[in-house]
Amino acid sequence: MTIYFDSAASYPVLPDVKACLNEAVESLFANPSSTHKLGEAAALLVEDAREAVADAIGALPSEIVFTSGATESNNLALKGHFSLPTYKNKRHLVISSIEHKCVHAIADFLKRTQGVETSVVKPNAEGLVTVEALAAAVQPNTSLVSVMHVNNELGTVNPISELGDYCFSKDIRFHTDAAQSFMKVDIDVDDMNIDYLSISGHKIGTVKGIGAVYIRDRRSMDFEPVVHGAGQEEGLRGGTLPAPLITCFRAAITSFPGAYAQIRANALKEYLIEELGAAAVPYRVNGASICSILSLTLPSTDVPALMRVTSNEYALATGSACSSKEIEASHVLTGIGLPRELAEATLRLSFHHELTRTDIDRLVQSIASYTTN
Ligand SMILES: *Cc1c(COP(=O)(O)O)cnc(C)c1O
Repeated sequence: MTIYFDSAASYPVLPDVKACLNEAVESLFANPSSTHKLGEAAALLVEDAREAVADAIGALPSEIVFTSGATESNNLALKGHFSLPTYKNKRHLVISSIEHKCVHAIADFLKRTQGVETSVVKPNAEGLVTVEALAAAVQPNTSLVSVMHVNNELGTVNPISELGDYCFSKDIRFHTDAAQSFMKVDIDVDDMNIDYLSISGHKIGTVKGIGAVYIRDRRSMDFEPVVHGAGQEEGLRGGTLPAPLITCFRAAITSFPGAYAQIRANALKEYLIEELGAAAVPYRVNGASICSILSLTLPSTDVPALMRVTSNEYALATGSACSSKEIEASHVLTGIGLPRELAEATLRLSFHHELTRTDIDRLVQSIASYTTN
């Protein structure tokens, strides 16, 4: 069995979610927009899930729109914002350099087609986006800032409250991609002055294909949809609501905190670092991260060989995104000042609740055997 160290890319499906999915496949086939009893029952489950999502972030159910995942949520938040007539003369966006690739892609689209200029803020050496750096990038025509909550490669936690406060004080709307922080780090959209927030189900143990976006006061916001449809989600996102995926998302929200508490209690990150020390493997930890993520640079280890030879044994992720022909150093790792060689010798390890010390022992042994010192 492959040992899975990639929960930040996608979390293993939780047992309660599997049970929920089985039942949903059996009984939850009606269209939640249908007016018969079965449709109404599906719609009730959808609304119950909407309330659970809203409660988890201190929002109102009316401010939650279901999407296919965080990529779509980011699209709806950023494109929707710039579709508002209020911002037709405030076409400047600020993002950070360590955003998920999709945010960079959306910013490119907005520049090419909507006349939105983007400034890109670099994080500090700890991988954090500071208010000072943000303030230096803001212009009189800035109407939106988008900075992620927890970074997916480093596991670092941006000072979202401070960034939100700053944006509020300048009358700038604030979006955060919370795909990696939802249900792991406390979120309160009011306390943190968040106007738009994106989340994804498969990062907390449900199946892929479901997510949500929070839009402050969405009923008074005339957002242009990304997916035009038959009026679902009050016209903001077309398509039959996937009631089975939505109830499973709800099951994950209930069940994930227990799994995450287990990860925290296991303290495998600390254990792994100790064991690397004991095995005399040179390493560097990038950034102060949440308990489920560790960005580990191994300067004396042949990381590409380790990955290749142990690919059946471990599911590992590097700091590099590999395209078919060339290996491109991760924009996040180079963004915090790692030279290319070190970025390419970096593993992004992410933990789930069923991993054990034995799994870590095996990994450390393998790392040690590809290390020269
Ligand atoms: C996984 C992830 C996404 C993409 O989410 P999907 O639901 O797969 O579209 C976006 N942002 C961050 C930070 C992520 O970790």
